[in-house]
Amino acid sequence: MYATLIVKFYHYYKEIKKIIYSKILRKKYYRTGRCRCCGECCKHIYVKHGKNVIKDEKVFKRLQYLHSFYTYLEIIGKDETGLIFSCTMQDPVTKKCTIHKNRPGICRRYPQEELFMMGGTLSDNCGYKLEPIIKFEEVLSKLMKKS
Ligand code: SF4
Ligand code: SF4
Repeated sequence: MYATLIVKFYHYYKEIKKIIYSKILRKKYYRTGRCRCCGECCKHIYVKHGKNVIKDEKVFKRLQYLHSFYTYLEIIGKDETGLIFSCTMQDPVTKKCTIHKNRPGICRRYPQEELFMMGGTLSDNCGYKLEPIIKFEEVLSKLMKKS
C-alpha cells in the first residue's frame, strides 16, 4: 500500500513536471547529468545573439562593446553555421575556466536546447544529456490513435 502510494506520487510528479516544462516553459528537452569539467564547450563555440548565430566578423566586433563575454572570445574559423570561437578565459593546460566564479550567465546555463536549433551538438565527453520531454514512442502512439 505504502509502496503503491509512493509509485503513484512519483507518477503524478513526473506528469506535473512534464506539463510545466512542455506547456508552460515550452521546453522540448530535460537537461540531466552534470558537468565533468572537460572544457570541451569552451572551444569551437557558435554564439547566438538574439535570434541569430553570429556569422559576420564586423557584427561581432560591434557586439564586443555590448557584452564582456564577447571580449573573451577569439574567432578561430567559420562554417555554414556561423563564426567559430574559442574562449581565451580557458586555461590552456588545465582546460578549466579561469573566471569560473564570475563566468557569464550564458556559460552557467550551458547546455540549453537551443544548441540543437543552431546545428550544434553536445561534445562526446559532456556529462550532460538533453533528453526529449515527450518521447518519440509517445508522439508516435498519439499519431496512430488519431489516424
Ligand atoms: S568564460 Fe569560462 S566557462 Fe565561459 S566559455 Fe570562457 S572558459 Fe568557458
Ligand atoms: S562539455 Fe559538458 S562536461 Fe565538458 S565542461 Fe562543458 S558542460 Fe562540462
